[in-house]
Amino acid sequence: MGQEQNHQDAAANLGRSPARKAGYRFLATLVGLGLLSVPHSQDPIPAVTPFSGEAAYTYLKKQCEFGPRVPGTVGHAKGKTFIQDEATKYADKVELQNFTHRWSKTRDVYDMTNVLAFQNWEKATTRVILLAHWDTRPSADMEPRPENRQKPIAGANDGASGVAVLLELMKTLKGRTGSVGICYAFVDGEDLGPDISEMFLGAEYLSRHLPTPKPQYGILLDMIGDADLSIPKEEYSNYYAPELMKALYLHAASLDMRSTFPNVIGSPILDDHLSLNRAGIPTIDLIDFDYPYWHTLQDTPDKCSAESLGKVGKLLETWLTKPTPWTLKR
Ligand SMILES: [Zn+2]
Repeated sequence: MGQEQNHQDAAANLGRSPARKAGYRFLATLVGLGLLSVPHSQDPIPAVTPFSGEAAYTYLKKQCEFGPRVPGTVGHAKGKTFIQDEATKYADKVELQNFTHRWSKTRDVYDMTNVLAFQNWEKATTRVILLAHWDTRPSADMEPRPENRQKPIAGANDGASGVAVLLELMKTLKGRTGSVGICYAFVDGEDLGPDISEMFLGAEYLSRHLPTPKPQYGILLDMIGDADLSIPKEEYSNYYAPELMKALYLHAASLDMRSTFPNVIGSPILDDHLSLNRAGIPTIDLIDFDYPYWHTLQDTPDKCSAESLGKVGKLLETWLTKPTPWTLKR
């Protein structure tokens, strides 16, 4: 992502086996004969494993261990496989959007992939797309020493943090979203650059190839792992999706998280959410751009925390499992 003003790169299911069914019939018979009484609440309820900030932080570190996830590198290939493998465990279906890009810097063509994972998409009455970019910046443009500026960043916060929260959310929300359907979109090519014309490539591709049925609204996670986390209301988001922004921040306040999600308007950030908004899907960007290690070699896991990931995860977990889902009024 880029900030407009200041920067050159602006830029359970319950497996009911026949044997279990027969068991239930036998019990029902006993109950019917008055030989046994069971309260209704004994219907088996799937165990809920709440969102774990620690587990998300493990996902963050794992991605960094692959090395920078720059298109054309081994780290990029490993990152994609990892996301795809995790998504296959927890989603109903996983789709790959493959595309290519000829990079101005090397003149070579690079393979890129958006990984889309779906839960309860077809049956849902409210469909939500959650996004995070999984690629990382090839150049540490903000390094003070010129000789370091051509090195790739680790992307612990700028890349891995959003993916980590989405993967942990997918795990915890499996089978729990009621009438809500979720598309987890792990988008590629957000941070290639060097300038704005070669950023947001995956989100642009996605906005031209939206899932069907279309999502009603979207939430983008970017740079949400900062140990010192504060996420104001990003200005473009507030312009394109004011009702969603207001409702989500009131929800955060109801969870006593107003210090992390303060009711203030933050700077406008050029990011993946703009592509979706232009395609007609109101989408907000949850981003803490006040991060001194942005596009430097210091964007490493120690600058992030399980606690911060946990707060964002809890916000979305409770938002997406509300008894009455929030919907956009048209
Ligand atoms: Zn970046």
